[in-house]
Amino acid sequence: MRRSEGPWQRHDDLKVKVKRIALLLEREYGVPQREKGSDPLDILIQTILSQNTNDLNRDRAYERLKSRFPLWEDVLSAKTEAVISAIRPGGLAGQKARRIREILRRIKKREKKLSLSFLKGMDSEEIKKLIGGLKGVGPKTVHCLLLFGLGRDAFPVDTHILRIGKRLGFIPERMDAVKAHPWMVPLIPKGKSLSLHLNLIRFGRSICKARRPQCKECFLAEERLYHSQ
Ligand code: SF4
Repeated sequence: MRRSEGPWQRHDDLKVKVKRIALLLEREYGVPQREKGSDPLDILIQTILSQNTNDLNRDRAYERLKSRFPLWEDVLSAKTEAVISAIRPGGLAGQKARRIREILRRIKKREKKLSLSFLKGMDSEEIKKLIGGLKGVGPKTVHCLLLFGLGRDAFPVDTHILRIGKRLGFIPERMDAVKAHPWMVPLIPKGKSLSLHLNLIRFGRSICKARRPQCKECFLAEERLYHSQ
């Protein structure tokens, strides 16, 4: 499965390659749109709940949390044990509950209210420093906040994207997810971050699966020119 190192690594080649992949994915799956009216704080909490679990469990945890504590203020004033119990379906409930409550406390202290609307007026790099400095908020979480909560050109790299990127050769084989975030940013065609992110995840779930990739059905198989298999 080792790919030979070579000119495929050149940055301009990779930009062309990623652009082509984005177009092929859109041709197959269409152009996904961002949900309108997404609240940045809701997105941040949802993304923390999504860590180390799947979408189904994340959604169950989030729905239980919102049904027991309709306002973020309620989460802050509740006992940690009650928050842990609410989000248990999402896994790592103790750690996530403490982190969520600490993040809410920090926001309240800074803004005197529980809202991240102030981020809308900030530059993305400033947001990465400010929100990325909170405990439990890694690069993927910040990029999700930027992309889904604030409509910025950001590119979260999750396990699907890391795997596919390596198989298709636009992420170096030994690179980890933390390093893959800054690596990907200059490779994304302008205005295509949401589309490429969501379509790659769809592709990873249906075709380029972790254990048994459906290579015979793969409409990106031509990209095997730089392929690791
Ligand atoms: S050919 Fe197979 S491994 Fe390669 S991208 Fe397609 S499904 Fe994934």
